[in-house]
Amino acid sequence: MVRKQKKSKKEKLLYTKEEIKKINESNSKIKIMPNCTFSSKIGELDMERRLYYPICNSKEIDRIFNVKNANDYLLKLRADTISDNMRFFRVYRNKALQNIEKWSLEESFDYSHYENFIDKIPEFEREKCLNITYGDMFSNKAEAYIVKTDFGPLIVINECLKYFLYFINLAILNFSEEVPNHVRANALRIAIRTRTGEEAMDFFMDPRGIIPKKIDNQIRNLIKYQLEFIAGHEFSHYLLNHIDDSNISQLFLNSDNNSSVIIYNKSHLQEFEADEKALTIPQYDCCELENMLPAVSILFVAFDLYDTYLDIVSPRSYYSQTHPKSIDRIKKIWEKFKVEKEEYDRFLEAGETLKIFLKEDLDYNYDIYDFYGSLYLDEANTEWRGKELIDRVDYY
Ligand SMILES: [Zn+2]
Repeated sequence: MVRKQKKSKKEKLLYTKEEIKKINESNSKIKIMPNCTFSSKIGELDMERRLYYPICNSKEIDRIFNVKNANDYLLKLRADTISDNMRFFRVYRNKALQNIEKWSLEESFDYSHYENFIDKIPEFEREKCLNITYGDMFSNKAEAYIVKTDFGPLIVINECLKYFLYFINLAILNFSEEVPNHVRANALRIAIRTRTGEEAMDFFMDPRGIIPKKIDNQIRNLIKYQLEFIAGHEFSHYLLNHIDDSNISQLFLNSDNNSSVIIYNKSHLQEFEADEKALTIPQYDCCELENMLPAVSILFVAFDLYDTYLDIVSPRSYYSQTHPKSIDRIKKIWEKFKVEKEEYDRFLEAGETLKIFLKEDLDYNYDIYDFYGSLYLDEANTEWRGKELIDRVDYY
């Protein structure tokens, strides 16, 4: 199948640091952050510090300019990836403005998926995991990885992943046919666009539609287990001594390739081992496993769908080179836990149906996947979309 190559993403919406500086200077609203102790001395701040001013508090900016440990290193990475991308920048500037007295970039990230895993593992392993640094941040390609730093290993999960998972879970799950097919199709498109970086990451201000509370709760519950498994998988690499200083590579964090980290590589065998340990080392009871195993199965169906997209538009992608096939990973887990195959095959069937749609959709509607901006679950003023929200009128 012949596909259009992806367009260059040198679009105007990915602002350079110079452009962000100009925006900061022209926007009086973002210069007022009372929690910055030096706010009265704003004019004296050098330009580099000003770059972080709308999204970090003053203590955090001090840490960014004097990195002393892995937490400071992660904070700087987080701040840099946000300030390098205008859409991320707008979202975090707005979050900061809504919590102006107590704003902390570091504390605005969720750590519960890491903590949920650590809380359930034996004490010896828990102590080891608590000795390393972990946290979510935005990045361009990989879902999760372990960064080599001067201060020890740093586990990172891509913040974009939770939005990808939200929409792809909506597409994959049947929800007793409550979700119309065109809404599921749009959910799949939004999910893929979120991973490729085409979708504006402003769900905080513009959620792309209205999901019934019951379905929203089901999806959020699934994501809780899926992220816990991903965190557990990365911790398991660490616990299994898969970290090898002689097997590292460079990972670029944004489309312009101007920001990168050094990450530890793993073999396919080690990936399978980490999958298994992530599910066997926590002391899950039967009830928790009954929630975890379907959630993980759907997670790998989701990854397989994204791999299908990548195989069509950009063969030999980063992920397909570094990890075993998602379906092989799922099947290993099913073997290990001796699941009822008939019951679990329905997840693969749901994935196969969406794959057929995805391939046809890329043939006829490739442009839907390739524009930078926002895609919605339905037309404006419908049950699944609600009132049309207008950028800079309904939100800023
Ligand atoms: Zn891994």
